[in-house]
Amino acid sequence: MLKKKNLIFLGAPGAGKGTFSDVLQSREGIVHISTGDLLRAEIASGSELGKQAANLIEQGKLVPDDIVGGMVAAKLATAECEEKGFILDGFPRNIAQAEMLHKLLDEQGKKIDAVVCFDVPEEAIVKRLSGRLNCKCGGVFNKFYFPPKKENLCDKCGAELFQRPDDNPDTVRERLGVYSEKTMPLIDFYRNSGLLVSITETNRDKIVEALYRELA
Ligand code: AMP
Repeated sequence: MLKKKNLIFLGAPGAGKGTFSDVLQSREGIVHISTGDLLRAEIASGSELGKQAANLIEQGKLVPDDIVGGMVAAKLATAECEEKGFILDGFPRNIAQAEMLHKLLDEQGKKIDAVVCFDVPEEAIVKRLSGRLNCKCGGVFNKFYFPPKKENLCDKCGAELFQRPDDNPDTVRERLGVYSEKTMPLIDFYRNSGLLVSITETNRDKIVEALYRELA
């Protein structure tokens, strides 16, 4: 069992945060809070919030802090998060969001136990994102690293796979620029607070094990 259960996963898009969140969610029941997934669900539902976010996401830009902050606040307040712990994947993405988060956690009497930083070289990120294939059931595959058994069809539900609109090369470049300008300062922010655990490409095969060992 993970003893430290309220986690932030920090890292560039495509660094593996979502995949490892899914592993911990299925093993430990930890609640996976992905602001990207929450925003995509809003877009799919056709809500006003989704309409505001869609354009920015397609351009690889950040959605306003108050929108994502509101979504995260609602999730964190659930009994499930209190009981099982949570992984914040893709939030915070800048210093203002981190400040917003810690104010919110103080108000709810919660704290972050560790910030896991996924450190992956940029070339690997570009290859991973350009090969990523998604399914409407939530399945994620990769043309290069984890191809589906039947070309372009989901192993889990058989539906046709698609590429996320923001995984095209131009938007990927923009997203990586936003990551280094706005999100990377959070690495020092959390290093200074003693919460940072770094996971690099060289120990990637042992990531899950490392999560258990280092965080337990
Ligand atoms: P992700 O699935 O985490 O790669 O997020 C996809 C897109 O959703 C990002 O490129 C942003 O446009 C938007 N997004 C996700 N999380 C945030 C956040 N914390 N703050 C602002 N925008 C976000």
